[in-house]
Amino acid sequence: MSFDADVIVVGGGLGGLSAAITAAKEGLSVIVLERGDYSGAKNVSGGRMYIHALQKLIPDALERAPLERPITKETFEFYCSNDRKLSFSFEEKGKKNSYSILRAKFDRWLASEAENLGVLISYSTLVTNAQRETGGINLETNRGNLRAPLVIDASGVTSVVFRYLGLRKFTPDKWMLGAKEIIKTDVNLPEDEGEVRTIVAAVKGVKGGGFVYTNKDTLSVGMAVTFDSLPKSEVPAKDLVEAFREKLGIEGEILEYSAHAIPYFGYRNLPPLYDNNLIAVGDSAGFLINDGFTIRGMDLAIGSGMIAGLAAKKLKEINDYTKTDVYYQMLKESFVLRHLELAYNRFSVINDPRTLVSYPEVLCNVLTDMFTVTEERKPLMEVALQRLKEKDISLTKALMDLMRASK
Ligand SMILES: Cc1cc2nc3c(=O)[nH]c(=O)nc-3n(C[C@H](O)[C@H](O)[C@H](O)COP(=O)(O)OP(=O)(O)OC[C@H]3O[C@@H](n4cnc5c(N)ncnc54)[C@H](O)[C@@H]3O)c2cc1C
Repeated sequence: MSFDADVIVVGGGLGGLSAAITAAKEGLSVIVLERGDYSGAKNVSGGRMYIHALQKLIPDALERAPLERPITKETFEFYCSNDRKLSFSFEEKGKKNSYSILRAKFDRWLASEAENLGVLISYSTLVTNAQRETGGINLETNRGNLRAPLVIDASGVTSVVFRYLGLRKFTPDKWMLGAKEIIKTDVNLPEDEGEVRTIVAAVKGVKGGGFVYTNKDTLSVGMAVTFDSLPKSEVPAKDLVEAFREKLGIEGEILEYSAHAIPYFGYRNLPPLYDNNLIAVGDSAGFLINDGFTIRGMDLAIGSGMIAGLAAKKLKEINDYTKTDVYYQMLKESFVLRHLELAYNRFSVINDPRTLVSYPEVLCNVLTDMFTVTEERKPLMEVALQRLKEKDISLTKALMDLMRASK
């Protein structure tokens, strides 16, 4: 069987482009198939990227990449009943560990980096089916068929190649809904400062949270919520972000709206990550961390993409593309699986309704008591225990949750 390239990558998002760049640097021939007119056209608009993986992929990225603002301030807000809100902020001026980015700009830039290294990116190319053939995989697209001994599935949460080969099913029960708007507004911050606001329980009934990221001269405003809680929400899914933005009092022209599924497997329930001649990276592999204070998928997509590119080189050297478990071995030694495992405890804590609903309410109730002076004043500890009891939570349970969350 003749092949069109050493590696074909399905999906020209962060995971796919990082795999392609790494494999090309290792001397492999690489084709990327991307259904959008350009990279970033189909990716949900923006977010906060932790840049450690990007700096490994492109060491001078900080000087050249289209980053928006470094995140120097973290704000957490919990909405409680009766118009009460608990919030706190932490500021670290000069910090350059994560940046807000706009995907349409960023992915396009990363694609040009790949093309400069000789990667062939075929845009407007939709992969519609896949079959195994001797020694490799045949991909059907709207522009004809292509074959390679190794396919990297970087198609995002729908993981099309794994599904077409019958290796996975659609798993919406393992997804969250992410919806986001870009709002044109005056960002009154110096150029080297940016803020991330993480917001819980602003829209009642939904399980999940919201966020606001400051870009150069826009805000990314959005929510990530579980599908099963949507029918219980006080507003329909399509109006979720609008209701959220109004609650926060954010005004401005809406430049863009997008909605997208987010994988929500958790370390212990990850889908198959590899098979003969096939590797999954990024969202397609279910690599997402939502641990209550951060949503991270982008650095995991870049990290797993780079590992897939290095694994491709090893497979070519041994001339056996069935030994894709080499990818898994490399993943286990990397930050990707280590961080996913670490986050699993917090993942299960935030999945518990106590965390997002009961605890903020208990805290607000305690604070209400603290800042209300009457003749019936009680010791703070007594108040806290009583407020926990009202929510059916024992002190032991609360302490255990605290310990699990801080692991
Ligand atoms: C609302 C929201 C907010 C988020 N916020 C953050 C954040 O702040 N920080 C963070 O780190 N992560 C965040 N994430 C997660 C992050 O966006 C993803 O983890 C990341 O984009 C995964 O990259 P990827 O390359 O694996 O997949 P994607 O970015 O989804 O790329 C997949 C690519 O495959 C292409 N494709 C799909 N099917 C086909 C096909 N059949 N044929 C050809 N091409 C195909 C698509 O067009 C797309 O370009 C957020 C996600 C959402 C939805």
